[in-house]
Amino acid sequence: MPSFYDERNTLFARVKLDKNSDLYKQYYQDKQTQKKADDAVRGFSMQMMYDAIKKDQNFKDKFIPMMALNDTLISQYHDIEKQTPINQQQTPVSKDFKTTLKAFLNQQGVKDSGVVALKPHHHYTHFGKHTPHEPSSAHGKPIKQTYQTAIIFMMPMDMDFIRRGPDAEEMIETLSVYEKIAHAGMKLSVYLRQLGYDARFESVQYGTVPLVPLAYEAGLGEIGMSNHLVHKTYGDAIRLGAVLTNLPLAPDSPTYFGLEAFCKRCALCMMNCPNQSITHKKRDVNGIGFYQFDDVSCFKIWKTAGTDCGICIYSCPFSYQIDVSTIDWMKNDPHRIDKVIKTHLKTYTRRPRRKTPNPLVKG
Ligand code: SF4
Ligand code: SF4
Repeated sequence: MPSFYDERNTLFARVKLDKNSDLYKQYYQDKQTQKKADDAVRGFSMQMMYDAIKKDQNFKDKFIPMMALNDTLISQYHDIEKQTPINQQQTPVSKDFKTTLKAFLNQQGVKDSGVVALKPHHHYTHFGKHTPHEPSSAHGKPIKQTYQTAIIFMMPMDMDFIRRGPDAEEMIETLSVYEKIAHAGMKLSVYLRQLGYDARFESVQYGTVPLVPLAYEAGLGEIGMSNHLVHKTYGDAIRLGAVLTNLPLAPDSPTYFGLEAFCKRCALCMMNCPNQSITHKKRDVNGIGFYQFDDVSCFKIWKTAGTDCGICIYSCPFSYQIDVSTIDWMKNDPHRIDKVIKTHLKTYTRRPRRKTPNPLVKG
């Protein structure tokens, strides 16, 4: 029996619940321990993050509009999709049409993609977000499975920005890649609609499926100790996107490059995490090996720094694009893995944070 994901249980859904609301009372009525932990970090909005950024007003006046622009654009992409009717005359395509769709995504800046045949347990059971495209009135509304196929894809983030986290550059890059991946998703979704197939893209503003387990099933990578998807080439420094459609496509399969054995020898994300949010203890979710994780303590740093943290992302040796032949050479061999970790530490050090500002935010 598969376990089902409920978006109301995700951290952002929980911490956005207003303490005086009925939704808050209903949600926590049988979760007293969780309630106490969540109350310590309750409240989240992008404005709250912007206010918390540890920069002077001049910096904020210049760079917050650069970050906020991404949210505006993503919202407009959802509007474009909604305004695109599904062509009543369907263009016939084969299940192998996924090759064309993947190439189309690559043209939009996507670096890897895969297909999953959707089952009910892939979806969240209920909405939990509060965004313009998933209004708060939808919180708690059941999610029906209306699509049969998910196309999952990834884009890498620029490590020069990510390695400055937890600082503004990290958030500038994260939000920018969220926008780019939503743009690619919108174009694919609109294209499929024009071919006569119902389709919808998922974004930070609207989501009905958790992307990490789907990306694993689509063969985009393995789950690392950070609980993130780690891509063989781009490591942890990626963001995920998805388009759901009723076009049937041949599914892909998970891929393995020896990450579990590597994580056992590495644990750099766990050791570098400032709030001890990451653990080495495994947990199984629908046959996928995740790790136990403390999302509340992780979120504390977001609230104090005003940006997502990213330390686990740039701690990961795979985020520095280890040569694929080296990855294959060390696969599941502890002695060779240790050699690769040693070389990584020598090159990048244990805490490879860049302390000087990125040129983008200078001046
Ligand atoms: S984002 Fe930062 S606080 Fe959160 S798990 Fe990663 S390293 Fe730890
Ligand atoms: S930093 Fe090390 S332990 Fe953490 S996900 Fe990456 S490889 Fe695994």
